[in-house]
Amino acid sequence: MSLASSSAVSLADLARSHTEWRPWLAVLEIVTEAVGDRAWRLAVPEPAPPSDVAPLLAGATLTPDARLVRRWGRRLLDTAASAGATALAGVARADDDTLAELLECGLVQDGARVSALATRLGVEPEALGAVTAVAPVPLLRACAERWRERVSPAWSHGYCPICGAWPALAEARGLERARRLRCGRCAADWGFAWLKCVYCGMDDHARLGRLVCDQDAAGEASPAAAPRFARALTPRDPIRSTTVETCLACRGYLKTVTTLGPTPADELGLLDLATVDLDVAAIGSGYSRPVGPGAPLGARVRARTGGLLSGWRG
Ligand SMILES: [Zn+2]
Ligand SMILES: [Zn+2]
Repeated sequence: MSLASSSAVSLADLARSHTEWRPWLAVLEIVTEAVGDRAWRLAVPEPAPPSDVAPLLAGATLTPDARLVRRWGRRLLDTAASAGATALAGVARADDDTLAELLECGLVQDGARVSALATRLGVEPEALGAVTAVAPVPLLRACAERWRERVSPAWSHGYCPICGAWPALAEARGLERARRLRCGRCAADWGFAWLKCVYCGMDDHARLGRLVCDQDAAGEASPAAAPRFARALTPRDPIRSTTVETCLACRGYLKTVTTLGPTPADELGLLDLATVDLDVAAIGSGYSRPVGPGAPLGARVRARTGGLLSGWRG
């Protein structure tokens, strides 16, 4: 697979060249704005003691302010509805319990509960699933910020040490090309051995493969097509090359992007989107990414009303 050759071009240029990404970019933009709201930090409890197996979020109860949950849930559903998922417009006025449940389903990546919620609300499960996946990002970023120093230095799993998700992508970072996994939810950043499958741990080199791509990033720039979010991006590290690591044992794949330094947290979503051609190539070759979390979380969201726990029902 070749994406043509090119000199370095920024992610923002790449985004401008793909008008079909605008709806999702609009969602990513409000996610980034919401992450900047410091009120999410008040929802973060003390983390569990460091563990070499369980993510820090396991068993945690997060207590965001009910008004914050309402404001964020409705804004997200409204934005997704205006961006094309029109069926979601009907649930943008959902009650507080429903919005908190949406946040919790996303937090623990429970697809079955999302489907049940979609049926109850009378909306497409896929549309609700896409929104549910990003809904907990502000909360998770607040957790990661507070808990970063608590991650066990011995962490050696493929799933996120903070929120339990499988990585969105890997970076081959710096001159030494260290393998760093990046969580697309909480933006955690952790090391992992090369020549080992992040999903199943397979380390038989004969069963691991790689689809090589030369990333271009060029494209017909059309500045008017770029949302504010994309224009605001100033990546320090243009994408230089990308690969897809594959595993014949579990048929899993993971995108790898060569970078000089860590990709800023706010740019991970766009980088994931900008490399969607790799997902298409990998899926076309018969590989996939695991559905659901890498580790069970059993975490809860209980929205606070007036300083008291709300009557949230699970
Ligand atoms: Zn994470
Ligand atoms: Zn594998």
